[in-house]
Amino acid sequence: MKKAIYPGSFDPVTYGHLDVIHRASTMFDELVVSVLNNKAKSPLFSAEERVKMLQEVTKDIGNIKITSFSGLLIDYAKEIDVHIAIRGLRAITDFEYELQIAQTNRKLSGGELDTVFLTTSLEYAYLSSSSVKEIASFGGDVSQCVPPFVMEKIYKRCQEING
Ligand code: ADP
Repeated sequence: MKKAIYPGSFDPVTYGHLDVIHRASTMFDELVVSVLNNKAKSPLFSAEERVKMLQEVTKDIGNIKITSFSGLLIDYAKEIDVHIAIRGLRAITDFEYELQIAQTNRKLSGGELDTVFLTTSLEYAYLSSSSVKEIASFGGDVSQCVPPFVMEKIYKRCQEING
């Protein structure tokens, strides 16, 4: 069985992530989408909340599993016996960072974890979780960036924070 993992912060999941998820799910028998629980960052949503949002917006895709992990991707990938990581590339600015991570993972895993890049669909090239959070924090319209379920959660969280 061909499995792959798509790791990320997904804080929150956007239509850009979903595009990568849909396309990757057709290339593998099973796609594990995994939320990185990075305690050094202060995310808008907890790892549990991010997992729930991903579950909701991918519920129509059959071969997907949503999980979360902390620590190194290579350790988690080994634990669940996955040898391919999926990452998305939006622009040349993503490339340098992603290349470094991919090469580090390959080296540290002794060649056990390779990375496959999917280039973003043009209509989502501008999208990032950070810009979505910034727009929503000023009450802007994010309906073209995230699914309605996620949009509701962001506005609610922004209201809680802004008071
Ligand atoms: P990170 O994992 O770097 O914290 P994200 O959770 O935002 O960042 O993104 C996870 C992966 O999805 C990364 O490979 C990122 O390049 C990719 N990605 C993010 N937004 C988009 C988009 N709009 N189109 C395609 N890929 C994207």
